Amino acid sequence: MSDFVMDLMADVKAKNPAQPEFHQAVQEVAESLATVLQQHPEYRKTKILQRIIEPERVILFRVPWMDDAGEVHVNRGFRIEMNSAIGPYKGGLRFHPSVNLGILKFLAFEQVFKNSLTTLPMGGGKGGSDFDPKGKSDNDVMRFCQAFMSELFRHIGANTDVPAGDIGVGGREIGFLFGQYKKLRNEFVGVLTGKGANWGGSLIRPEATGYGAVYFAANMLGTRNQNLEGKTCLVSGSGNVAQYTVEKITQLGGKAVTLSDSAGYIYDPEGITPEKLRFVMDLKNVRRGRIKEYCDQFKGATYTQIQPGLDHNPLWDHKADCAFPSATQNEINEKDAENLLKNGVYVVSEGANMPSTPEAVEKFVKAKILYGPGKAANAGGVAVSGLEMSQNSLRLAWTRAEVDERLMGIMKSIHESCVHACDTYGCPGNYVDGANIAGFIKVANAMMDHGIV
Ligand code: NAP
Repeated sequence: MSDFVMDLMADVKAKNPAQPEFHQAVQEVAESLATVLQQHPEYRKTKILQRIIEPERVILFRVPWMDDAGEVHVNRGFRIEMNSAIGPYKGGLRFHPSVNLGILKFLAFEQVFKNSLTTLPMGGGKGGSDFDPKGKSDNDVMRFCQAFMSELFRHIGANTDVPAGDIGVGGREIGFLFGQYKKLRNEFVGVLTGKGANWGGSLIRPEATGYGAVYFAANMLGTRNQNLEGKTCLVSGSGNVAQYTVEKITQLGGKAVTLSDSAGYIYDPEGITPEKLRFVMDLKNVRRGRIKEYCDQFKGATYTQIQPGLDHNPLWDHKADCAFPSATQNEINEKDAENLLKNGVYVVSEGANMPSTPEAVEKFVKAKILYGPGKAANAGGVAVSGLEMSQNSLRLAWTRAEVDERLMGIMKSIHESCVHACDTYGCPGNYVDGANIAGFIKVANAMMDHGIV
C-alpha cells in the first residue's frame, strides 16, 4: 500500500469508525487511483478524492409504524446523498435488518463511480432502512413504506434525488413508496425508478441488472473470442438480480445450476430451465417462500443449508466456467475464490455490490481471470433507471426491444471504458482498476469545473 493510501485510510477510519464495508470500498478505489493521482497534481491539489469520500449530505430519520396486530415499531431510515457532480443523486433503497450507516455509505460511494460509468448524467446516492420485509403482510409493508416516505419525500425530487430498489425493495415497495410521495406532493413525476410499466416505469428495468451482468460477462468473454454458449454458471441469490441473470444466461446458451437465499442453496446439475425459473419467480416474488422448495418440485436438484460459522460457501465449490454472485456484499471470501479457481471458473461477473472480499479480489486479479467488479458489471440496473428518467421527462415509453438495445450498448460502452482506462494507466486486463479509474475521471473533471463546493 502506498503512503498516500495509508494516510488516506488512517483518516477515513478515524473519521468513520465502525464502518468496515465503507473502509473496504474506499481502500479499493484509492489503491486503483494511485497512478492517476500521481499523474494529475490538479486532482491532488483540489483534494478531489477526499471530497468524493465525504457524502454531500446524510439524512437519518425515525420511521414509526403500526403492524396488523396494532403493535408499534420504530425503524431507522437513511438517505446518503453522496455526490451530485454529474447529475441528481441516484441509487437504490435497501430494506434489510443488516442496514446501517456504514453499509449505505459503501453502497452510495460505489454508486458514484458506477453511475459515472453508465454514460448517463446521474450522481450517486443510496438509502434504506433496517426494516425487514420478510414474513410481513402486504399491509404491514404498505404502512411501513408510507411511514418511510412521509419523511423521505422532503429530501428527494425528480431533479434532486431519484431512489430505486435494492435488496428488499422491489416492485411492490416502489408502488407503495410512489403512492405516498404522489399523495404528499400532489404531483406525478419520475421521482422513483423501477415503477410499474403502466404508471411510468420502463420496460426491461426489472430485468436490467441481471441482463446487464450477463452482457458484461459476454463482453469480457468476447476479448478471448468466446461466448456464453455451453458455459456452466453458478448464480447466488434468488431475488431480482439472480432471477434475470439466470434468464439471460439461458437465452445466450449457457446453463445456470445454482440459486440461493440466506438459508441455503440449490444445485441443479440439469440446469435451471425457463420452466423452473418461472417456478422460482412465483415462489420468490408472489408466494415469498424459501429456495429450499425448489427441490420438492424438481427431482435431481439438491438443497444444502448454509451452516453458520462455516469458513466457505459450498455454493462456490462446484465445477463451472462462470460465477455470477447476485446476493449481497462479501459473499465470496478468499477460500471461496480458491474453490472457484480450482473448479475451473474463469469468468466472474458481479451482479451484487462488492460481493467479493479484498482477498478474493486479489486471487481473481492474480489469476488473470475475467473478473468484472460490481460497479461495472451490475451498472445495467441503474443505467435503465436513467433511461426511465429520460422517458419520464419526455413523457414517452420506449419499446422493450429499444430499451434492451440501449442496455446492451451501455454495457458494451462500460466494458470499453474499463479496458481503455486500464490500458491507458498500465494495468491491462484489470477491470477493477479500469472501472475505478474510468468512473473517477468523469466525476473528478466535473468537480474541477464546479470549483470548491
Ligand atoms: P433481492 O431481490 O432482495 O434479493 C436478494 C437475494 O439475496 C435474496 O435471495 C436474499 O435471500 C439474498 N440475500 C440477501 N442478503 C443476504 C445475506 N446477508 N446472505 C445471504 N443471502 C442474502 O435483492 P436484489 O435487488 O436482487 O439485490 C441483490 C444484490 O444486487 C445486492 O447486492 C444489490 O445491492 C445488488 N444490486 C441490485 C440492483 C437492482 O437493480 N436490484 C442493482 C445493482 C446491484 P433472502 O431472501 O433469504 O434474504
